[in-house]
Amino acid sequence: MELLKEYNPYLEYRNEELFLEGVSLRELAKEYGTPLYVYSANYIKDRFNAYREAFPDALICYAVKANFNPHIVKYLAQLGAGADIVSGGELYLALKAGIPAEKIVYAGVGKTEKELTDAINAEILMFNVESRQEIEVLNEIAERLGKKVRIAIRVNPDVDPKTHPYIATGMQKSKFGIDIREAEKEYEYASKFKNIEIVGIHCHIGSQILDISPYREAIEKVVDLYEKLVSKGFDIKYLDIGGGLGIKYKPEDKEPKPVELADLIRPYIEKVKAKLILEPGRSILGNAGILITQVQFTKDKGNKHFIIVDAGMNDLVRPSIYNAYHHIVPAAVYERESVKADIVGPICETGDFLASDREIQKSVRGDYLVVLSVGAYGFAMASHYNMRPRASEIMVENGDIKLIRNRENYEYIIEPSL
Ligand SMILES: *Cc1c(COP(=O)(O)O)cnc(C)c1O
Repeated sequence: MELLKEYNPYLEYRNEELFLEGVSLRELAKEYGTPLYVYSANYIKDRFNAYREAFPDALICYAVKANFNPHIVKYLAQLGAGADIVSGGELYLALKAGIPAEKIVYAGVGKTEKELTDAINAEILMFNVESRQEIEVLNEIAERLGKKVRIAIRVNPDVDPKTHPYIATGMQKSKFGIDIREAEKEYEYASKFKNIEIVGIHCHIGSQILDISPYREAIEKVVDLYEKLVSKGFDIKYLDIGGGLGIKYKPEDKEPKPVELADLIRPYIEKVKAKLILEPGRSILGNAGILITQVQFTKDKGNKHFIIVDAGMNDLVRPSIYNAYHHIVPAAVYERESVKADIVGPICETGDFLASDREIQKSVRGDYLVVLSVGAYGFAMASHYNMRPRASEIMVENGDIKLIRNRENYEYIIEPSL
C-alpha cells in the first residue's frame, strides 16, 4: 500500500483498516455520519512549509477558494500564510481567520462596488485588476474614501498550461486578465489615476498543472514585461505568479514539488528586485482531504455493476464537471474478490458519479469507501442540489479529532422557514 503514501503520507492501513493521522476512518464515519470530509492538519502544514522553504523570500498567499473552511484558513494564517481571495466573502473570512490585510491579494473579473469598497477599507496588500473599468471604478471609490489603492494588473501570457480547458486561465481566449501584449499600454493608462498606486504584475495561468514547463514560458514573458515597465519608471514591488501546481489524482500522476518550480524559474527572476508572491490552493489542500461515503446498495444492470453510495455530485462535483479521476479505496479491506464497478451517487443525474469502470474490492451494503484527493475544490464546490444538506468536515492531527463544520440540516437550507 505504498501508493497511498504517495497521496498522503499520513494515510495508512493498520490491520486492514484505513487510518489518517492515527484516526480510523471507519470509526469516524460511524461517529459523525457520512458523507464526511476529513482533513489532515500535518499534511497541510508540510505542504505550506514546502512552499516556504522553496521560496524563502516570497509571500505565500493561500488561494482561499480551494477550501474555505474557517478552521483551515485560520490554521494556515497561524503558519504565516497570506490569502489570495476572489470575493467579498473570502475577504470577510480571511480577515476573520486572522490573515493580516497586508498579506491579502484580491483577484477576480467581476468584483462588485461593495466588494471593492470593503477591500479598500480593509487596506489589503493589492488588487489584481482584470480590466480597465475595474481600475476606473477602484479609483472612483478610493477618491471618495480619500484612500490610495495598490494594484497589480493581471496579465494573460497566452500560454497553454496543458490542463483541463475549464481551469486553463492564462490563454488568450479566457476571460481572465488583460492580453500581455497590451500590458504596457494598460500600465500607462492606470498610471494616470491619482488614487491608484501601481505596485505589481500578476498572472495565474491555470490549475492542476502537472508538467511545469508552461510556467517557464509565462515567467519569461512576465519578467520581460517587468523589465520594460521598470525601464519606464514604474516601481514594480511585487511579482505575483499565481498558483496552479498540480497534485496526484491518478495512481500514475507524479506531482511537481514547489522546489522544482523554484528551480525552474530561478534563472528568470534572479535579476528581478520585486518580491515574489505565490497563490497555491490545490497543492496545499488537495491531498490533505478525503471523503468518506457509505455504500447504500449495489446492483447489476446489463453487464454493468453499480456501487451506489451516499456521496453525490452535490458533495463532490469534480468527476461530473471535469470528468476528474478520484482514487477510491475501501475503509476496511476484506478477503473478497474485486469487481469492475461504476461508483455512483444518489442524485437524479446520469452525470452523478464518482468513478466509472473502476476496479475495486466487492462492496456490500453498509461498507465505507474513501475518496482521495478531495481537500481542494471538494467541499468548496458542494451545493444543496436535490435538497441535500452539506456534509460535515473534520480535522485530524496526531490522533486528535476536531469537528470543523457541522453537518447542515433541512431547516438551515430553507431559511427563512415556511
Ligand atoms: C484558483 C486560483 C488560484 C489557485 O489555484 P490552484 O490551482 O488551486 O493552486 C490562484 N490564483 C488565482 C487568481 C486563482 O483564481
